[in-house]
Amino acid sequence: MVSERDRRIVLIAPPGAGKSTQATRLAEQFGIPWISTGELLRAAVREGTPLGQSARAYMERGEMVPDDVVIALVQERLASADCQNGFILDGFPRTRAQAEALRAAGVNLDYVIELELDDAEAVLRLSGRRVHPASGRTYHVVFHPPKVAGKDDITGEDLVQRADDTEEAVRTRLEVYRRQTEPVVAWYREWAARKDPNAPRYVRISASGTPEEVSARLIGLLSANSSESAVGAAGR
Ligand code: AMP
Repeated sequence: MVSERDRRIVLIAPPGAGKSTQATRLAEQFGIPWISTGELLRAAVREGTPLGQSARAYMERGEMVPDDVVIALVQERLASADCQNGFILDGFPRTRAQAEALRAAGVNLDYVIELELDDAEAVLRLSGRRVHPASGRTYHVVFHPPKVAGKDDITGEDLVQRADDTEEAVRTRLEVYRRQTEPVVAWYREWAARKDPNAPRYVRISASGTPEEVSARLIGLLSANSSESAVGAAGR
C-alpha cells in the first residue's frame, strides 16, 4: 500500500481525462486534502476577489492563468496544517515555471501521475460534462448522469456547464496542454529516469474506460509502491 511518506501526489492530465474525479477519490482513500488549482480559481471568481477578477477572462478562454498568481495560491494552500501529511495536487504544476517553483520551495513530491487520453475522447467527455459548483462534483449527461437531470445527487442543487467547456475553449485547453503541460510531464519523467533519490516516482496510466476502471488502475500502480515498477510501468 501507499505508505505514510508516499502521499505527496501530483496528478497531471489533459482536460477531460477525469483528473478531478480521480483526485477526489484518492484524497478520500488516503485521507489527504485535494488541492485543485482550477477549483481554487473558480471559487475566487465566484467570490469576486481581486484574484478571481484577474483570473476570470483567462479561464473563460481556456488559457492559463499567469504563473505568479497560481504559484502564490498553491504556496499559501500548501502551508496549511492539513497538508503536512500529504496532499494531492490536481492541475498544478502545469508549466515548467510552476514545476520549478514547487521544487525551489522545497516541496518534496512522492508521485507524479500522468493520465492519458486522446483529444477526440476528451471533446466527447467535456461537451456533456455538468458540475455542481459548490462541491466540484462532476457528472456527464450520458456517461455519468445525475439521479435527477440537472440536479446534484447529494444537495439537489442545480448543475451547470462550465464556461470553458464550450467547444472553442476545449480546443484551446487541449492545445495549451500539449504545448505547455506535456513538457512538464517530460521534465518529471526525465528526472525520475535519472534515478535521483529526490525525484518523484513517475507513473503514466490510460484514462480511457469508466471512472471505476481508471481508479482501479491508479490504486494498482500506487499499491505496487516501488520506484522500479512505477518507472517501468511508465516506460516510454
Ligand atoms: P481545471 O479545472 O484544472 O481544468 O482548470 C480550469 C482552468 O483554470 C484552466 O483552464 C486555467 O485557465 C486555470 N488553471 C487551473 N490550474 C492552473 C495552473 N496550474 N496554471 C494556470 N492556470 C490554471
